[in-house]
Amino acid sequence: MAETKSTCCYCGVGCGVIIEHSENKVTGVRGDPTHPANFGRLCSKGAALHLTVVREGRAVEPELRTRRDAVRENVSWEVAIDHAAEKFAQVIRDHGPDAVAFYVSGQLLTEDYYVFNKLAKGLIGTNNIDSNSRLCMSSAVSGYKMTLGSDSPPCAYEDVDHTDCLLISGSNTAFAHPVLFRRIEDAKAKNPALKIIVIDPRRTDTAAFADLHLAILPGTDLVLHSALLHVLLWEGLTDNAYIRASTEGFDALKDAVREITPTFAARVCGVKADDIIQAACWFGQAKAALSMWCQGLNQSVHGAHNSASLIHLHLATGQIGRPGAGPFSLTGQPNAMGGREVGAMAGLMSGHRDMGNAAHRAEVAALWDVKDVPATPGKTAVEMFEAIRLGEIKAVWIACTNPAQSLPHQKLVREALEKAEFVVLQEAFKTTETAPYADLILPASTWGEKEGVVTNSERRITRLHRAVTPAGNAKPDWQIACDFARALCLKMPYTRASSSLFNFDNTEAIFNEHAKTTQGRDLDISALTYATLEAEGAQQWPYNAATGGAIRLFSNGVFPTENGRAKFVPIVLNTLAEATSAPYPLHLNTGRLRDQWHGMSRTGKSAQLFNHYDEAQLGMHADDMQRRKFVDGDLVEVKSRRGKIIVRVQTDAQMRLGQTFLPMHFGRAHMSNSGANELMPASFDPISKQPELKHAAVQVAAISLPYQVIAIRLGCDSDNNPHEIALQRLGAL
Ligand code: SF4
Repeated sequence: MAETKSTCCYCGVGCGVIIEHSENKVTGVRGDPTHPANFGRLCSKGAALHLTVVREGRAVEPELRTRRDAVRENVSWEVAIDHAAEKFAQVIRDHGPDAVAFYVSGQLLTEDYYVFNKLAKGLIGTNNIDSNSRLCMSSAVSGYKMTLGSDSPPCAYEDVDHTDCLLISGSNTAFAHPVLFRRIEDAKAKNPALKIIVIDPRRTDTAAFADLHLAILPGTDLVLHSALLHVLLWEGLTDNAYIRASTEGFDALKDAVREITPTFAARVCGVKADDIIQAACWFGQAKAALSMWCQGLNQSVHGAHNSASLIHLHLATGQIGRPGAGPFSLTGQPNAMGGREVGAMAGLMSGHRDMGNAAHRAEVAALWDVKDVPATPGKTAVEMFEAIRLGEIKAVWIACTNPAQSLPHQKLVREALEKAEFVVLQEAFKTTETAPYADLILPASTWGEKEGVVTNSERRITRLHRAVTPAGNAKPDWQIACDFARALCLKMPYTRASSSLFNFDNTEAIFNEHAKTTQGRDLDISALTYATLEAEGAQQWPYNAATGGAIRLFSNGVFPTENGRAKFVPIVLNTLAEATSAPYPLHLNTGRLRDQWHGMSRTGKSAQLFNHYDEAQLGMHADDMQRRKFVDGDLVEVKSRRGKIIVRVQTDAQMRLGQTFLPMHFGRAHMSNSGANELMPASFDPISKQPELKHAAVQVAAISLPYQVIAIRLGCDSDNNPHEIALQRLGAL
């Protein structure tokens, strides 16, 4: 048996793993005791990674259909790449570069991301490249940029060990970032005086662990954060010297929160005024106060301001840049941060440069040796699929993500994928909900088969090694993108770049080029190499040759803004994308389960991971159940303004009256409909463009069906031997 170091491919904690393998097969996995993100720990998802390495559902050969009504057939890589290049070149020739788009993923490694970004912006000349990270952290990016001046999360996991007050807003850390939550539990055990405050509409496992749970009404986060600032001011708990020396804009914000008293906020948010005062006092009196947030704040039509309003609390109290203090956004995906570093999103540029800055664009063009890079932001995730639906974007390349399950308002997404003239799906699995729409499937390597780097929530870059060769004829994502780029160069209607710009021999060459683009920027890793990562282990950025990585940022009170000051930004007290009303009287909240990951294309392969929760169920308060004469296990129809689904309903003690909950993971691969995202609005934050995937107004009614289906699900290992049996209720078919 051999062992190879890698990372878990799920959440942004970025746990180090050791893959056990023999004869080119993954046989086991365990936590890497030397990795600073997890010190050997893994959660239930990470510990089951080896059970998901199955041939069942893998894409192993390129598959092409030349007519929509035809069946895809296996073709060689040469034919597949040539066909894709011909199609893209034709669309660019006929309709211009903005008629094509790339929708990529936080699952990609940094090197993959780098090549895709160079391909879209450098070679083709379009900013129509966005990532599914848009769905999880773009509001945090906007919040950081608006206040601190750059997308630079200033904290580290070890801050959990040093804080006196941890404020968790909109994150069920216990389920979504479990290994980090174990660290929080350890910190509380070592220091019982540590105060933990959780702001969440549901009484999640995280909320139940807290000293104080503020069970706010959905969408009222901004009002609550503003009321906390009001109390900090009222109680004299702000750090006026820090505000004077290191910030600007505080007086205007002070005026704006003057009327947002605890009493006012209590009424709006549905919590007790005394609890708001208590939370603010714990935060303001702490020697070191840390906050964490995730999708509960980010997935909102005012997600950017949600994030900014939490960061304001730190700037107002000087609680930033010290051990145990700072605003810490938790990234949802394993390499969302890597995508931000290389700028592979519709409004970002390489090395945290600004797309609107002509000098920055010229720098990137010079680094890439291309004529120029486009200045106008491209289409973001929801906008991109709407542009496809409207026929503005004709060809789309989807890599390592599953928009036919994960985007809101699924009906429109399905229409878009049907309307597209050419859909390429670069994927490890051909069983995803998006696969039926693909004209071309390009088989990609996946966890255990890839090498490169990822960056976790604390800016820590880890090198991954390949344990086994890719399944079948699958190829690494960066290699597919390079092959396509070189082929496209030969067919492009105009020459923007030489095909030699994509002549990378390996991931190290790509990493070195990426590192060079960061020189002189806030995330400078120009001194970091694969050899350093090998010898010294995972490192945080920025990485200086003399001192190594930086544990935390902004310790000197100087920020990467024009005048070096952080900014308090005006708050906009918006509401939810849609309010409840007589026809749609219930709030629907969405969230994650402990043992599933995103659209389940991987975790759904392991029967073991269905033990905790085996089907999508609607959680509902006992009184709401009783009023509707529901009993646990009843099938119900959940309807929003966009669609309806059928699921079982279950009494859920975590819910407040008038609120319901659905896990976001289940889609058509596991039920008879598209799940929660069939119901969600396509509304998004105007700044971050992140959709409001957390909330919809719904009605729930009993449904009677003539029959139900019970199915036995049989899983196979890589040799097609049955190894797991799970009973999976498929609900109404
Ligand atoms: Fe660690 Fe997250 Fe993977 Fe769990 S899912 S092992 S917490 S990286």
